[in-house]
Amino acid sequence: MATDPIEVAIVGAGITGITLALGLRARNIRVRIFERARDLHEIGAGIGFTPNAEWAMRVVDPRIHAAFKRVATPNASDWFQWVDGFHEAGTDPRETEEPLLFKIYLGERGFEGCHRAEFLGELARLLPEGTVVFQKSLETVETLEDGAQVLRFQDGSTARAHAVIGCDGIRSRMRRLLLSEDHPGASAHYSHKYAARGLIPMDRAREALGEAKVATRLMHLGPDAHALTFPVAQGSLLNVVAFVTDPRPWPHADRLTAPGRKADVAAAFAGFGPTMRTIIDLLPDPIDQWAVFDLYDHPPETYARGNLCIAGDAAHAAAPHHGAGAGCGIEDAAVLCAVLEMATQRMAAATSQEKAALTRVALETYDAIRRERAQWLVDSSRAIGNLYEWQDAQAGSDAAKCHDEAFWRSHRIWDYDIGAMMQQTATVFEARAAAVTKGSDVKE
Ligand SMILES: Cc1cc2nc3c(=O)[nH]c(=O)nc-3n(C[C@H](O)[C@H](O)[C@H](O)COP(=O)(O)OP(=O)(O)OC[C@H]3O[C@@H](n4cnc5c(N)ncnc54)[C@H](O)[C@@H]3O)c2cc1C
Repeated sequence: MATDPIEVAIVGAGITGITLALGLRARNIRVRIFERARDLHEIGAGIGFTPNAEWAMRVVDPRIHAAFKRVATPNASDWFQWVDGFHEAGTDPRETEEPLLFKIYLGERGFEGCHRAEFLGELARLLPEGTVVFQKSLETVETLEDGAQVLRFQDGSTARAHAVIGCDGIRSRMRRLLLSEDHPGASAHYSHKYAARGLIPMDRAREALGEAKVATRLMHLGPDAHALTFPVAQGSLLNVVAFVTDPRPWPHADRLTAPGRKADVAAAFAGFGPTMRTIIDLLPDPIDQWAVFDLYDHPPETYARGNLCIAGDAAHAAAPHHGAGAGCGIEDAAVLCAVLEMATQRMAAATSQEKAALTRVALETYDAIRRERAQWLVDSSRAIGNLYEWQDAQAGSDAAKCHDEAFWRSHRIWDYDIGAMMQQTATVFEARAAAVTKGSDVKE
């Protein structure tokens, strides 16, 4: 391990881990992903990517962006529409319209959705065989004197790497190792909203709701519940995510998802108009319920310690109301690829200790660049979820006020200048690395 470029261990083969691995491989950095599950899997649900996420994909590896575009379903309209799902008169959704509250321009082919499993399948095809090591559930990481990291897995096996990046999701083991077990930020907390998710065959959805309501991205607002719908899988499925505020504790301590009674979800939307009631009616029973956990209450005060770091939901698990959590993980991957590439370029004649120091600087730079924006997303996601359920004390159900909030918050995510982020990454890394290597022989 003391010669050649560094090897990076990624924990977790979700969207963040796989994207990062592809980016590192494209930069000739050795990488393995250690994944707890038996195989690559994604849930049967949709996901959308905002413009910043698409830009970050291109920076990590243009093949990732091409993969997304291959499976993305264009919206029928370039406008994202927020409608009043509550005050809709009438009984037949094919003859009624949810009042338009406001709309925001997405740009041409902006914020498209896709089927998660299809996207992951496309990404997996790009990964060389053997990159992901399955059935490896991380328990601990030990740092040796020469800076090497030893990962220990539940099955008793070990692996070595120079850097370990935890992309292990909301219930991250790496976050616990990085912050310590009893740190209040070590665990995500329940936001007291859950999401009922489902995919409705498009012919059924079209027949019940009419073409206009199924062909594009719609956010249906109302009191204490709201829903997002958009087409996926080349328009063959309607993706539904229906959120419900629930003041009770999440009943399943050991898992974030569980099948639930459709009647409970229907009760939350009982006072809504015919469109929302019909959408819930079209969902299966029992229905998949996802507890919305996030890192709002106790954000990690760092994403990096020594040669360990966390990325994606492990670092900034956010409520999904902006539809931007995975995109934020891809932004992380863009920065991690850049800093690790710059670090390895300085390692030609480096000793183990010098490699370890440069790797540490790379991860500290990542933390410096990413944490503020990612934590803002966590905070804003809570705020926007409340806004969509008319729980915001200032805005209530006032369409103009809701528009103003949604507009600036959305644009702060969508319009993020990934190019400027990458430039700043290079500047910060070079300044920090110069300080580390000053007087030493590690520069090429
Ligand atoms: C209802 C809902 C809708 C959403 N919609 C969107 C959207 O439209 N757009 C968007 O950008 N985001 C969306 N998100 C957020 C997005 O799903 C997440 O941000 C993203 O999937 C996180 O990816 P990740 O790779 O960081 O983590 P995960 O996908 O959670 O992957 C973590 C991986 O780590 C593995 N793992 C865990 N522990 C260990 C261990 N100890 N050892 C080894 N492996 C381990 C897991 O098995 C898993 O494979 C939504 C989320 C929800 C809940």
